[in-house]
Amino acid sequence: MMFRCCFCGRKVSSPKVFIGVFAVGSTCAKRAGLLDRARKKTGVLRLAKPNIGARRADPQTLDLFAEVEHA
Ligand SMILES: [Zn+2]
Repeated sequence: MMFRCCFCGRKVSSPKVFIGVFAVGSTCAKRAGLLDRARKKTGVLRLAKPNIGARRADPQTLDLFAEVEHA
């Protein structure tokens, strides 16, 4: 799922911090000092869960190791 950084408007695949429902990318979160504040779990700031879901193949991208069998 793609999010859009609410600070700079860039697309982010795995946001670092959420302000309410709004995603913030890692660079903007770092610059604004949101990471430390989100760790304290105060207010509407929260850290995003790390993306540990299974990798989904992008239909627009060729598989670099297509000839290798995937385990
Ligand atoms: Zn941003």
